[in-house]
Amino acid sequence: MDFKRSLSSLGRALKSGGEKTLKKSTVFMDISRINILIASKEKDMEDIYCLIGEKIYKKYGKELLRYKELKEICNELELIEKDIKKLRKEISVIKEEKFCPYCGESIDKKSKFCLKCGKLL
Ligand SMILES: [Zn+2]
Repeated sequence: MDFKRSLSSLGRALKSGGEKTLKKSTVFMDISRINILIASKEKDMEDIYCLIGEKIYKKYGKELLRYKELKEICNELELIEKDIKKLRKEISVIKEEKFCPYCGESIDKKSKFCLKCGKLL
């Protein structure tokens, strides 16, 4: 093979290699873009699952404990709710709030009666 011919065949090989690389990176970008769309749709589904779960829990609450597969999740949720109550109480202690001994409503320190249940304090 003479020098000129081998040079032009090298040129063709390089050109074809470059085109292949370009095609590969375009395909890669297309796949990445589609994967981002899929991830976003999956996130939407997750949000909807959450909404369904919240609505069912709020509507059926303790009834869900009858279902073995939901019992643990419901118990976990109850523990979290208790934790939140404790944390809210901590805020009340820091704020030096007083609570009505009859209904548990937060009341002003100087108040003579509860604004919620109306009982004298
Ligand atoms: Zn009260």
